[in-house]
Amino acid sequence: MDKNRKRAQEVFARIGFEDKVVPLSVARDNSAVITTDECYLVGYEDQDGVECNEDGTYDDGCICYACGTDLGTDTFAVCPNCDAQLK
Ligand SMILES: [Zn+2]
Repeated sequence: MDKNRKRAQEVFARIGFEDKVVPLSVARDNSAVITTDECYLVGYEDQDGVECNEDGTYDDGCICYACGTDLGTDTFAVCPNCDAQLK
């Protein structure tokens, strides 16, 4: 693996939930647990909400962690936009 290639510092999983229809009285009851089931994995993203893979890599090349500039598939030691050191 190219050490200059940007990886997410931390990978987050986005979880979605199926729509659920409940009576209004249940919807207004803040103490009611409406759903804990029927959730599914939407995808993965980094700490900035940028989509990435489960292992923290990005399909569309590198993205600067500091300024978010899409660096494409080229690898840089420093970001050409903000001069951030890229790992
Ligand atoms: Zn940058």
